[in-house]
Amino acid sequence: MTLGQKALDGLNGFLIQLETGKPIKATEVRRVDTPDGPMHIRRETTLGGDKMQKELEDKFLEKWPTWFAGLHDGDPRETCLAFGFECSDGWNDLLWRLCEDIEKLGPGEDFRVEQVKEKFGGLRFYTSGTNTEVFNRITEAENESYKTCEFCGSKEDVTSTGSWVTTRCKSCREKKNA
Ligand SMILES: [Zn+2]
Repeated sequence: MTLGQKALDGLNGFLIQLETGKPIKATEVRRVDTPDGPMHIRRETTLGGDKMQKELEDKFLEKWPTWFAGLHDGDPRETCLAFGFECSDGWNDLLWRLCEDIEKLGPGEDFRVEQVKEKFGGLRFYTSGTNTEVFNRITEAENESYKTCEFCGSKEDVTSTGSWVTTRCKSCREKKNA
């Protein structure tokens, strides 16, 4: 077992535990600037568990095999899709409609999905080979995610709360606090 580190951007990173080249567990590290200087907060990220179920994700791979190449079984050094969708399954319907619309817009042959994740309470859908129409549709879906509970898909009474910003409906917020 080896320990690798992957920088996502200037503030966040993942420590990735690799076993036979596949991610099994990740710790999200976030830097927070405090009056006493920078502080690092760690959070265990389960690959599985409350993450979008693998069977649901596999439907995307079956329907759009070239777009989602490397989902689950790719090399994590080459595609972030090796981690699966890094969000919970309340956004499944939103993601499926997004992909159906992208198909209608006819992206080029080199269109690829690079990463699907939650960040600061919103969906991030990173792609390559994207044209303007597809890009605009993705932006629309990312905006919609802020009004959609990440855990159950409800659009009722949805807000982003907590020190770890997640987008939840009232019922899922109460469950979390229970
Ligand atoms: Zn909910």
